[in-house]
Amino acid sequence: MADTKSGAIRWGMVGGGRGSQIGSIHRSAALRDDVFRLVAGAFDIDPERGRAFAVDLGLDAERGYPDYLSMFAAEAKRPDGIQAVSIATPNNTHFAICKAALEHDLHVVCEKPLCFTVAEAEELKTLSEERGRIVGVTYGYAGHQMIEQARVMVRNGDLGEIRIVNLQFAHGFHSAPVEEQNPSTKWRVDPKFAGPSYVLGDIGTHPLHLSEVILPHLRITRLMCARQSFVRSRAPLEDNAVTLMEYDNGAIGTVWSSAVNAGSMHGQKLRIVGEKASIEWWDERPNQLSYEIQGEPVRILERGMDYLYPEARIDDRIGGGHPEGLFEAWANLYRRFAYAINGRRGLAPEGMEKLTFPGIDAGLEGVRWVENCVRSADAGAVWVDYR
Ligand code: NAD
Repeated sequence: MADTKSGAIRWGMVGGGRGSQIGSIHRSAALRDDVFRLVAGAFDIDPERGRAFAVDLGLDAERGYPDYLSMFAAEAKRPDGIQAVSIATPNNTHFAICKAALEHDLHVVCEKPLCFTVAEAEELKTLSEERGRIVGVTYGYAGHQMIEQARVMVRNGDLGEIRIVNLQFAHGFHSAPVEEQNPSTKWRVDPKFAGPSYVLGDIGTHPLHLSEVILPHLRITRLMCARQSFVRSRAPLEDNAVTLMEYDNGAIGTVWSSAVNAGSMHGQKLRIVGEKASIEWWDERPNQLSYEIQGEPVRILERGMDYLYPEARIDDRIGGGHPEGLFEAWANLYRRFAYAINGRRGLAPEGMEKLTFPGIDAGLEGVRWVENCVRSADAGAVWVDYR
């Protein structure tokens, strides 16, 4: 599996071209630990711009392809062809590109949302199993070390039985119709490109995924969602939504997804309340986890410290006190994707079994949640059984 020269997985990209919002973090994360080597790409909807960008990135001009299908076909014929591909294009293209990549026996790292419907996600899951290939989904915040700490704290019973799951991703950057000037926002508010939702799929699924990582034993049984388009031109897509969820253990949860929370920077926060204690995490201060035991002073747990659970220290790069951020979290995820890919060939180093990564099921669950939220909201914000 590994490339004989560098030991790295030969890797290509679809999308993420010059000026795109998310392309560069994929590259910096994948290349950070020498686990992937970028050798090919169909980086841009504009073939010429894509080829020029490939050359600027140091690729052979012939491996800067005009579109993903020619890339997959040409690379499959090369003895040194790509083994994995990342997809960083607008939402409406993910399903077709992911399917074609799997049909060419490539491992895939796909942007969220994985696709538009649960039926499509299940088709991709079946295909990935048939082909023996992994599909990673870039819920990048899951690479933060304090999320691992939270996961193990819940598993060890530090909070007691979970009662309340309070989630939000509510920023203010789209309080005005910025899409009129910004192409990366324009497609996000157009159902043709964005799919059945805007903020639910674009940002609400991030804290939802973190809650699934931290609380793998909880299942949503039913939910209710109301969504609004405060910037009217965005209708039928929402720029704000509130979701209420019931879980199978009796817990209750909320997700506030918003792009019109004026004045807020990122506003991605989780608070998980158990019968004995609560934890709280905020993505703008990702190196800290607040641990609040009823009747005791608040403790702020810090990334990289000896008192954390071992799982929260596996990805430590520089020791406690030095701030790590989103780029490190993504690099942690890409390293886990690489371990998982190599694991398919018996090449994964020991210890891999302790690591989790957002795979095809994470992608599927994100799509399922959006589908249920939209079903509830469009029926007048009614309770719907989760399916
Ligand atoms: P963008 O509009 O800024 O960039 C999209 C890029 O894809 C451009 O370079 C464009 O030329 C290229 N492209 C479009 N169609 C293509 C095609 N058919 N073939 C090849 N290239 C194509 O978009 P963005 O903000 O970077 O978002 C891309 C994806 O990443 C979206 O699905 C979005 O939801 C996701 N995203 C995820 C995160 C995260 O935290 N995981 C953050 C931002 C965006």
